[in-house]
Amino acid sequence: VESATRNGNHEDDHEDNGRQRRRHFNENGVVCFEGDSEIDGAPIVMITTGIHRGSSNRKTSFMLQTWVLRSDIPPSDARRLGADRSICGDCPLREGACYVTLHHGPRAVFEAYRSGSYRTINDVGLRWASRRAIRFGSYGDPAAVPARIWFELAARAESWTGYTHEWRAQRHRSLRRLLMASVETPADALLAQSMGWRSFRIRLPNEAPLPYESVCPASHEGGERTTCFDCRQCDGARPYDLRRHYTVIAHGAGRSAYRRLRLPVVE
Ligand code: SF4
Repeated sequence: VESATRNGNHEDDHEDNGRQRRRHFNENGVVCFEGDSEIDGAPIVMITTGIHRGSSNRKTSFMLQTWVLRSDIPPSDARRLGADRSICGDCPLREGACYVTLHHGPRAVFEAYRSGSYRTINDVGLRWASRRAIRFGSYGDPAAVPARIWFELAARAESWTGYTHEWRAQRHRSLRRLLMASVETPADALLAQSMGWRSFRIRLPNEAPLPYESVCPASHEGGERTTCFDCRQCDGARPYDLRRHYTVIAHGAGRSAYRRLRLPVVE
């Protein structure tokens, strides 16, 4: 992975009454990218967390999580000000239907980052990604980060999952090898597929899966038979990929907002 610059807030060591004292870093996370958003050029950061938690037991270990955040504005402020476009693009779920609770993961990661708790990949390298399962874009659209970062992680990882709403943009086309196209309508699912993407469609309860779609097996309607860690199907489109596309009924806190979002479309 190319240059991730050091967060100016922290140092490895500092003077303490004439003695060098080691600073305590949060080893569970690492800054993988700091720079300009690929969407609008604003300052963003991508941080991976979960590096040590559960790593001793692959059966129960969690996927590594990756957080794409504005580096200069707390996540809730960014959403309120509309500055989250830098990291979410034109995702329609920004209008109240987003399933990510900002005052949990994103806020904690942002605050730790701003206090200089995380080291960067320039400091620690990428060995921690080897043979791990990684979720690309636990919050934020992976397309906001240069594609080379995700390809470097994927080259080391055992598996990954990821989704982007930026699938229409030609400049993000390479990401179809790693990510699913996030879509809301059958028409968009077909369009994304015609552009070489596999699709993941969130749909309304009265909409049936399309013939070429399977219901996500981790969902309630899919019987909660597995987890993304074991399923691993949402990892983009390989060349000549004949695997299924996936769909799930809108659920969770944002389902009412999603219904409002879709009503003009389904009427
Ligand atoms: S289809 Fe599999 S990888 Fe995709 S969201 Fe569902 S459980 Fe996760």
